[in-house]
Amino acid sequence: MKADKIWMDGKFIDWDDANVHVCTHTLHYGVGVFEGIRCYECHDGKSAIFMLNKHIDRLFDSAHIVQLDIPYSKREVIDLCKEIVKVNNFKECYIRPIVFMGHNELGLYVKEFKVRVAIISWVWGAYLGDEALKNGIRAKISSFTRHNVNAGMSKGKISGQYVNSILAKKEAVAAGFDEAILLDTEGYVSEASGENIFMLRNNIIKTTPLTSILQGVTRDAVIKLSRDMGYEVKEERFTRDELYIADEVFFTGTAAEVTPVCEIDGRKIGEGRPGSVTLSIQKKFFEVARGMHKEYSDWLTYL
Ligand SMILES: *Cc1c(COP(=O)(O)O)cnc(C)c1O
Repeated sequence: MKADKIWMDGKFIDWDDANVHVCTHTLHYGVGVFEGIRCYECHDGKSAIFMLNKHIDRLFDSAHIVQLDIPYSKREVIDLCKEIVKVNNFKECYIRPIVFMGHNELGLYVKEFKVRVAIISWVWGAYLGDEALKNGIRAKISSFTRHNVNAGMSKGKISGQYVNSILAKKEAVAAGFDEAILLDTEGYVSEASGENIFMLRNNIIKTTPLTSILQGVTRDAVIKLSRDMGYEVKEERFTRDELYIADEVFFTGTAAEVTPVCEIDGRKIGEGRPGSVTLSIQKKFFEVARGMHKEYSDWLTYL
């Protein structure tokens, strides 16, 4: 993982120079917010960033939740996301803006502090592997619970909240699985460590409502695409055993894209291989992200 340049606090600097002090407040306590965005090389050779405006809206919403005042406008951050891809000469890449508290004091309550912003970009292939996109993955219901909605702020992509996700992911991998599915505090399915979850049963697609989950940009896109393809989509709570008897299950996320889930807790989902509905939605998603459908061209920001 490396690129030529990183944009940090107002300028493009060399990758190796983009360092922070060990007393950086966010490093200690996690009050920082970030985004994960993808830029795809389109069918015509141009590059386009997928849902850039929505990601930047969410970055500002996340910052608002934790009361970090981003010292740039949305327009400036949007333009910088395009710039970082260009200065690094990428055709296809991942873009990671991060907003964090600079060092000043290390008490929990700091009155005056500098809000720092960096935008990183690197080439990142399929998050769970090419194999996962094609053949699906095996998931485990985690022993870790998703944050109570009054403890974690699930609508924000907030740095410190990923301790919960990382513990769940490590537990799943240690047990021989690829990914963890977390339940909410009432025991209903919430989301995976960094992906939203969808299930199909009797031709109806269900996904978790916006209770304890992050409102994924990919989730929104997949709901819209699925409805446009003629599927009924419900945002409704469901239980782990409903997943076990689902015909198909898949994850969505900028990193994981549309990943089929073929096994949960040792139980085959459907036939135990990626289902036809999942694969058709996945295909449509990649075609749209690569600019092959004019009717969704407002989802893309060309460089
Ligand atoms: C980022 C993330 C997602 C996926 O959101 P996208 O906007 O689709 O990338 C889902 N859940 C969690 C916890 C996340 O951090």
